[in-house]
Amino acid sequence: METLFDTMTAPLGNSVATGLSRLALALKTNASQAAQPLGLSPTQTQVLALLRTQPGGYRPSQLAQTLALGAPAMSEALQPLLTRALAAQQPDPTDRRAKRIAITDAGLAVIAQAADWPEALLDTVADLSPEEQTVFYRVILKMIRNLQSAGSVPVGRLCVTCTHFRPYVHEDTDTPHHCTLVDAAFGDRHLRLDCPEQQPAPPDLAEATWQRFLAAPPSPLPV
Ligand code: SF4
Repeated sequence: METLFDTMTAPLGNSVATGLSRLALALKTNASQAAQPLGLSPTQTQVLALLRTQPGGYRPSQLAQTLALGAPAMSEALQPLLTRALAAQQPDPTDRRAKRIAITDAGLAVIAQAADWPEALLDTVADLSPEEQTVFYRVILKMIRNLQSAGSVPVGRLCVTCTHFRPYVHEDTDTPHHCTLVDAAFGDRHLRLDCPEQQPAPPDLAEATWQRFLAAPPSPLPV
């Protein structure tokens, strides 16, 4: 039955989208404020933060794809980092004609001054119970995966699209999933958003794995 408030408020989906927009705006503002004292733009801070996670570096095209930037914007962000020797070009061991961009010691020192996440955001998340955080993380994963499928965000190196991911193959409800690469069980809280070892599953396998992940945990399957 429709209530008075149903006629006064936006549909729930719109409210969720509005709330997410507010959070995104707050994060953008915070990123800008955090980057300024380092003499970096928010994009350059993101580049250094990303480079920090992979000592072997990234090709510029990989950086651009991960950060959803075009080649000119990526080049514009990288040039000051190279000039200030916060990042350096090095040969790509897998292709002699290609170059990789890697973070330098100076770059590590600079990015160490930038908090990984705004304090306020960390505090807000810390106020959620572990159960709420797990549910929230799962919802975020679902949204990212759907945005990836729609081509709205760059394809990330998620567990849920990895050929090594086996959802719900263990009876232990705390760690029901399995990674065949490291041959170990893990839980929702361990699902990775950017795993360097991720290998994209073929589309049909990825979809089948995703549907199994979304469904209520099925009976344990052989690993
Ligand atoms: S290799 Fe990485 S992305 Fe793939 S299932 Fe294992 S931990 Fe997840």
